[in-house]
Amino acid sequence: MRRAQIGPFPRWPWVCTRCRANYSSVAAATPSPSVARTGKKGKKDLPDAPARTRFAPSPTGYLHLGSLRTALFNYLLAKRTGGQFLLRIEDTDQKRTIPGAEQRLCEDLQWAGLQWDEGPIVGGPYGPYRQSERTAIYRSHAHDLISSGHAYRCFCTPERLDTLARHRNQAGLPPGYDRTCADISAEESEERAARGEAHVVRLKAEGYPMFEDLVYGKTGQNKPSNKLDYIDRVYDDPILLKSDGHPTYHLANVVDDHLMKITHVIRGTEWMPSTPMHLALYNAFNWTPPRFGHVPLLVEKSGQKLSKRNADIDISFFRDKQGIFPATLVNFAALLGWSHSQKSDVLSLEELEQIFNLKITRGNTVVAFEKLWFLQKAHAQRFAASRGPAFDDMVNKVSDVVRNSCSTEQLEPILQTRPLTEYISPLLRADAKSYTTAQEFVTRNETFFTSTLNRPPYAPAAGAEKNTIPLSALHTAAAAFCLVPEPHWNADTHRANISSYDGASASVTSSDSSPSSSSPEAGADPEAQAKARVAADKAFKKELYHYLRWALSAGNPGPGIPETMEILGRVESVRRLDEARKLTASQEAGYDASGLFPGNRRPKDVNPEGDKSWMGSLAPR
Ligand code: GLU
Repeated sequence: MRRAQIGPFPRWPWVCTRCRANYSSVAAATPSPSVARTGKKGKKDLPDAPARTRFAPSPTGYLHLGSLRTALFNYLLAKRTGGQFLLRIEDTDQKRTIPGAEQRLCEDLQWAGLQWDEGPIVGGPYGPYRQSERTAIYRSHAHDLISSGHAYRCFCTPERLDTLARHRNQAGLPPGYDRTCADISAEESEERAARGEAHVVRLKAEGYPMFEDLVYGKTGQNKPSNKLDYIDRVYDDPILLKSDGHPTYHLANVVDDHLMKITHVIRGTEWMPSTPMHLALYNAFNWTPPRFGHVPLLVEKSGQKLSKRNADIDISFFRDKQGIFPATLVNFAALLGWSHSQKSDVLSLEELEQIFNLKITRGNTVVAFEKLWFLQKAHAQRFAASRGPAFDDMVNKVSDVVRNSCSTEQLEPILQTRPLTEYISPLLRADAKSYTTAQEFVTRNETFFTSTLNRPPYAPAAGAEKNTIPLSALHTAAAAFCLVPEPHWNADTHRANISSYDGASASVTSSDSSPSSSSPEAGADPEAQAKARVAADKAFKKELYHYLRWALSAGNPGPGIPETMEILGRVESVRRLDEARKLTASQEAGYDASGLFPGNRRPKDVNPEGDKSWMGSLAPR
């Protein structure tokens, strides 16, 4: 029997909270919906058969950190279990679709290395993989539900539905539909539809089952679809087909997951409230649902949801503005809410594919961007060690920055005949541990790209106030290293030379040739003397490294000294050491009579030209 249309509405009486609670307990006593299929395995285990997963973005926006993580977890679950990863474009909301967004989504996923096995571009047996091309499939499935009595056409006008909603709202009652159209006979429904009367198709929901979430465990409220209140029963009968004949997200999503044989759905917790409704649809179709796992929200350290303003920007920001490697971003996204038992957090996509599991944490995930830079440096080091295409890419990026910021005149004396990329390649290998972005790398290593160094006045290494190392000894050591001929000019030779340099003897003053003189307690005891020599050598080397860094790169941090000398090359290194010697010779001239380094005392200005005493025994005779 058809229900009378509502209206005019009676005045809603006031209903106290207690009574409302009673009504809901009556409602709860109605046949309860069953718990969805849970599967045998524990929620943290991997499925025992290959998983078919999918990433189903709507082209109403671009790929951002949260959606990259969702795509990644689905991808990894498929790869880990030997299954397939699908890409499906959910473009049912045509009004909000951004032109070009689908292409960007595809490009961004490919950049991250998340290549789909089935989907747009690559095709597959269950296509088309764009929902806008599947409308006929959804319509026919909606009609199947009408035929089986699990759905019905609703001819209620928007005005009636609006009035119903307003009245319920004013009475403090939850929203719902009163199933006015559910009792329309099949013939009448067909006939009105055939006449072209506007209608939607609603699910005749039996109830909203609880389910075993892969992350959160048992979830949902086992809600019946009807809500009994003082006046009438209302139902949560979701719309499946809109009046324009297009499917709602819910219908399209469920039909596609079923037809595409999806076994596992990993998606954001924002979809958790919809899952019971999706399960109701699976039940209506008499289909086995996939397993669902909802991944927690990404939040700022302050606990606030990541927003556009505070970094939930699309991944082109990380790629194009920050120069983050795909391996870094993927590694970073993988660690957002997922834990592993490896020794290191630094993991490539291939490694993640080997170890992924469903140990996903519940509760919001705090995004700490410091970790992103830690991972970037770690991956830079890995690329430098492997010297593959990712390293070539780094070399090219740094070369571009150098070309844009340094003049040819500036570079020529350093490069000599070397191509820029050949100069940058060893520099990157030597200092990859500090690589964040190409720009930052060039700024940090600026002294490698100019022969005009702005050295501060030389000051001994921290803690060396009491040291007894004369500048002339440092000059002599530097001069010795300069004697290495071009064919042997490499980091290994310099490292060996520096380490075998007799720092203990070099650090003695001209007035006293005993290395133990700086250590009176050593006395004549040979063991104590040996110890004193070791200590003197150590102190000398410390000061020597400090001096060479000042001389070669104005004291800037960067590659080690032997590497710096190799990268700069013989001509430029010798030139810098000579320039440094001249600068410090003027400081040396201000020394006290003992010839010891005078700490931070400003040197007297003298012209050291022509003075070769700094080369000691190595001075040309
Ligand atoms: N189209 C939905 C989205 O963009 C996908 C939800 C789902 O994965 O089921 O978030």
